[in-house]
Amino acid sequence: LEKRRQEMQRLVSHELKTPLASIAGFGENLERYELSADEQRRVASLIRGEARRLQEMVTVFLDLEQLGGGLWEGTTEALNLGHRVAARLEVLGAAAGARQITITSSIDNDCWVQAVPTLLDRVVDNLVGNAVKYTHSGDNIEVDVCRSVDQARLGVLDHGPGIPEDGLARVFERFYRVPGAEVTGAGLGLALVKEVVDWHGGCITIESEIGNGCVFTVSLPAIEEV
Ligand code: ADP
Repeated sequence: LEKRRQEMQRLVSHELKTPLASIAGFGENLERYELSADEQRRVASLIRGEARRLQEMVTVFLDLEQLGGGLWEGTTEALNLGHRVAARLEVLGAAAGARQITITSSIDNDCWVQAVPTLLDRVVDNLVGNAVKYTHSGDNIEVDVCRSVDQARLGVLDHGPGIPEDGLARVFERFYRVPGAEVTGAGLGLALVKEVVDWHGGCITIESEIGNGCVFTVSLPAIEEV
């Protein structure tokens, strides 16, 4: 309970305060100054961006609370992991392409899992999204889905900066970010991934070497083909 209280306090006092202050500041600019139509649009889009960031953060935080507290109410269904991942890669590939990052995939279409579809998508989105986010332009990301005995595996490999050893133990904590990371983020994505994977009775591991990227591997209990 104490840990949850501290996390809630951190969310409100650090994470929500800054974007709220920006929104208030931008609003004040609109009120006080005669801005050209172009400037108005720019300020409006900054407000929208900050509001969206807040929305995402609050949504992820509440989902984490529900999953961690055993209150999640989604229903699971038999899903073809390979098909699900391939569908997300089509969308995520577009964002990667914008930075000249290619995603190659090796997908076994006979991997089935019992899962909540939207949660499974968020695992893929976060892992592949991070690989894209932290990888240098022009690099390649590898995604693979395979079955190993009674486990369905999803692997995401990138050639980005990697994660230092002391960070490896902490990246699944809420709000943790590797110090000095160049890209911005809230530090909640991997906490959600871990919570979702645990909720489905699976596990997640990371291997990383500084300067040589990382591999995230999610293992979920496999079910027989439906
Ligand atoms: P964020 O919103 O900061 O990306 P995450 O919870 O998804 O939050 O990740 C936590 C931290 O782990 C990130 O801030 C980053 O420092 C590190 N990290 C996650 N994925 C990668 C990756 N593929 N390569 C390098 N660092 C990563």
